[in-house]
Amino acid sequence: MTEPCIITVAITGALPTKKDTPAVPVTPEEQIESTVEAYEAGASLVHIHVRNKDQTPGSDPDKYHAIQEGVEKHCPGMIIQFSTGGRGRDQNQRAGMLHHRPDMASLATGSVNFPSNIYENPPDFVESLATRMLEFNVKPEVEVFDAAMLYNAAHLVKKGLIKPPVHLQFVLGIPNALPARRSLLEFLIKEREEVLPGSTWAAAGISRHQFEVNQWCLELGGHCRTGLEDNIKFDRDRLAVSNAELVTKIVDIAGDYGRRPATSVEAREILGLTNAD
Ligand code: ZN
Repeated sequence: MTEPCIITVAITGALPTKKDTPAVPVTPEEQIESTVEAYEAGASLVHIHVRNKDQTPGSDPDKYHAIQEGVEKHCPGMIIQFSTGGRGRDQNQRAGMLHHRPDMASLATGSVNFPSNIYENPPDFVESLATRMLEFNVKPEVEVFDAAMLYNAAHLVKKGLIKPPVHLQFVLGIPNALPARRSLLEFLIKEREEVLPGSTWAAAGISRHQFEVNQWCLELGGHCRTGLEDNIKFDRDRLAVSNAELVTKIVDIAGDYGRRPATSVEAREILGLTNAD
């Protein structure tokens, strides 16, 4: 028996970087097309950011909705997750697209230093974002950029602001935040069992750590995240040509760990989401 693994594809980063390649989809049309390819390759969850005309990070609810509609149409059952990430976005716009009721939205439960800025998520803001998600029946994916965020998530469950079972994403390898160390991931998983029993988890490795972290997740029973948002390289010598190519890289080795890509129906069951009608 192989165990299903939810493969998340983070198709487009919030910030355009010098490193953006033509493979990074930036318009809603390109983002839908790239998601379809990744879905066909084995991804069952898509994590979405939008950009403005000048390619700066966007908050345009219509753009989020356009991608949502396209993915719903072309990728039956795929789990749609909007990013509420803050880089370059006005704090009060970060929940501005939740009324479109995506299946999930990201929720960082604390603040952390990034390479050159502070990712600010003050306590009252985190609570207001969690409350909005409850209102619109959007399941949060708790983004753990620092260990405190795991315990903060447990606190939010106690306060009734996050409904269990909680889904966690450990983000490893961002300079100034958590390093990509397997011992650290193992510690976080163990702590998770105690403070958030019944929770599910995935981990994302940033940049050159992506594939190594994918392998740890397959081995340790977690779910995987890949995509051009986190990493644009296929390997040391070559840029990835698409999001689908990065998904395929996981699918190709999953069997070695007794895993296989989850279908979208399985992924919804694992995360406790109702199946799409
Ligand atoms: Zn993101």
